[in-house]
Amino acid sequence: MDLELRGKRALVTGGSRGIGRACVLALARQGARVAAVYNRESDAVRSLAAELEATGDGSYVVQADVADAEGVERLVADARSRLGGLDVLVNNAGVVSHAMLADLELDEWRRVVDTNLTGLFLVTKHAVAAMPAGGSIVIIGSGVALRGMPGRVHYASSKAGAVGMTRALCKELGPRGIRTNLIAPGIIETDQTAGLTPEGRARYEKLTALQRLGAPEEIADVVVFLASDLSRYVTGQTIYVDGGI
Ligand code: NDP
Repeated sequence: MDLELRGKRALVTGGSRGIGRACVLALARQGARVAAVYNRESDAVRSLAAELEATGDGSYVVQADVADAEGVERLVADARSRLGGLDVLVNNAGVVSHAMLADLELDEWRRVVDTNLTGLFLVTKHAVAAMPAGGSIVIIGSGVALRGMPGRVHYASSKAGAVGMTRALCKELGPRGIRTNLIAPGIIETDQTAGLTPEGRARYEKLTALQRLGAPEEIADVVVFLASDLSRYVTGQTIYVDGGI
């Protein structure tokens, strides 16, 4: 199906691995030119760079820490000059962390909130200035935000903040013709879940109606829908992509 993303310009944070990488590749496959943002150098970054270069349509990888205000400003200025503007922003970069409240130190709280929420604010603020009418912002939140989970006070707070930001952005940017939606994934097979024991994995599988974990590509497919005009009257929504938890 042609979703008419050809010629669209996209920026995906956390594009080197997991869900973000699947989003980068899915958008590029639909013809978008994509800036794939990573934080740390790795083999995954190098292989993605080679894959994007092979498409030959101007997609590229670029380093930035989303929690660093100056770095984000530089990132978006660079995307503006390389791509000419931004039609699609996928705010995916995030860290997960497990600590019960009694053991949750301020530094760890700050690390998670700085990346998952302040980073979301910084990237969105600068990217929106480069976004014309018809633009689409997609935020990768988490089902944990409203469901809760022990050991996730910091993570769930950061992701619940993203839900509030989605609602506020939808009202603020809607009159400019820019849509904002949030995807709340369930349990998706990425580096974040790679450490699961077989028992932990089986327990998570049983939590879902479909009795299995999700694949990053199953989140990316919904991102492509939200980036495209097929979703032109959808804004301010939280879309659960969790196999029915
Ligand atoms: P991964 O750990 O596989 O990948 C995380 C990505 O975020 C990496 O590309 C990483 O870059 C990037 N990143 C982390 N910190 C920063 C930073 N400060 N600046 C820039 N980039 C950064 O995660 P997932 O693919 O599993 O998760 C992606 C998103 O989906 C996250 O927001 C996560 O909270 C959310 N999510 C995931 C679920 C899951 O089950 N996997 C469930 C619900 C939500 P680098 O490689 O350079 O470190």
